[in-house]
Amino acid sequence: MSELLKKQMIIDGKQIGSLSGETSLSINPATEEGFAEIPMGTKEDAENAILAAKKSFDLGKWRNTPPSKKGKILWKLADLIMANRQELAELETKDTGKPIRETMSIDVPMTADVFRFFAGATTKIHGETIPVNGNFFHYTLREPVGVMGLIVPWNFPMLIAARKIAPALACGNSIILKPAEISSLTAIRMAELALEAGLPEGVFNVLTGKGSVVGQALVDSPIVDAITFTGSTGVGQGLMKSGSVNVKKLSLELGGKSPNIVFDDANVDLAIKMAAAAIFYNKGEVCTAGSRLFVQESIYDEVTEKLSARANKMVPGDPMNEGTRLGPVVSKAQFDSVSEYIRLGKEGGAKLSAGGEKFDIGNGGKGYFLKPTVFTDVDNKMQIAQEEIFGPVLSVIKFTDTDDVIRQANDTAFGLASGIWTNDLKKAHQVANRINAGTVWINTYNMYDAASPYGGFKMSGFGKESGMESIYEFYTKSKTVWVDLN
Ligand code: NAD
Repeated sequence: MSELLKKQMIIDGKQIGSLSGETSLSINPATEEGFAEIPMGTKEDAENAILAAKKSFDLGKWRNTPPSKKGKILWKLADLIMANRQELAELETKDTGKPIRETMSIDVPMTADVFRFFAGATTKIHGETIPVNGNFFHYTLREPVGVMGLIVPWNFPMLIAARKIAPALACGNSIILKPAEISSLTAIRMAELALEAGLPEGVFNVLTGKGSVVGQALVDSPIVDAITFTGSTGVGQGLMKSGSVNVKKLSLELGGKSPNIVFDDANVDLAIKMAAAAIFYNKGEVCTAGSRLFVQESIYDEVTEKLSARANKMVPGDPMNEGTRLGPVVSKAQFDSVSEYIRLGKEGGAKLSAGGEKFDIGNGGKGYFLKPTVFTDVDNKMQIAQEEIFGPVLSVIKFTDTDDVIRQANDTAFGLASGIWTNDLKKAHQVANRINAGTVWINTYNMYDAASPYGGFKMSGFGKESGMESIYEFYTKSKTVWVDLN
């Protein structure tokens, strides 16, 4: 076993261990071995990080940095991320089991791209002058919110963090990033690179440890002005409750059970290929995963047969190998949870048409590898169709016509994303209009862009990430100024 990588939190520009001295091991899900050690922060560590952020905000070094200089520093950070692409990609792959070809070609470059978009945004944030009644000069100022807590999950550790860090910094806020316990390494590295890019100390702090301890401390602190959270619906509900004590400004990006709809007039082979990618990309650990595939009855048999054959051909492998397209599930806990849903699917009467079991990649059965799993003959009321599994498990559901599929697709507690496959563009737009989800993809799936606003409806949360919309909706506050001209 190679030497353990030891990383520290970043507080006030310095590398800091936990005040308790406690650490936790980062486990590589492909080998089940610990490869890095991170501090398990305490409540006191959280308080120190909050005070560091507050001090930096009050000093105003970053907040008052001219917009174009802010932009230059964020752009430099993007350059540094790309210059350290190999290291960041390897850390992300070892922490999460994502194939290295994806971390190299998607996670790291997209992260850099998010910083570049918001580097450009720094010079475009402005208030308005408003013609009011009476003899007044009336305008609004767009100001940073202040100290922001950024709490992120483990499925896209760098990318989801970047989608919060970049707009927060572009607007002049000071931040405390709380990564997931099991995937903290790239967060720490990004904060180190931000210092190298010229960000003043204390503006970007990273606090590692348990969500229930350091994450909760951010939510409970009256000094933290806002929390942006991406994670499970259950934890998000808890944050709303505890955040209410200080009337905390909140943005919640929560779970999903997204419908992906294939009409019989679609390019069926393309729809099948993309339906597999929609659920099996990142081993289904994607909040927008197309986990409910609705197929029109006249093409149902053809689609389920071809899709199951395709799933059976997808073989998980060592994520560090260039050729691997499917890695292990992120952790033992996640592996057990997904396996339990597979059991529930079988017990509940769905037909297991592909996968459904652990896979040995030839390293003595080590690693949390699962075969891509397809359940057919699923009823939308079944537990596997209603609850977020967050793993490589697809439920295929039959529908008759547009009204039937709209009713079924919207029959869910979630409202994050959706897909529509049809060559009838009129129908595509009509269905897009009737689907209750924050994002609709037509003849494509899982597309993202730093310029495109993203967020869910219903129990998938509220607030928008990315795009200029996120700046006006969340990362700045609007102040109204009246000047008497009489
Ligand atoms: P999680 O809710 O368990 O944890 C998310 C983060 O919250 C972690 O950093 C965790 O430490 C922290 N946390 C936990 N308890 C906390 C508390 N009491 N106070 C403050 N912070 C706390 O989620 P996860 O298992 O890491 O991630 C998977 C979930 O994230 C899935 O439900 C998935 O759908 C969701 N997700 C949503 C989106 C989206 O954009 N909507 C994107 C990715 C993931």
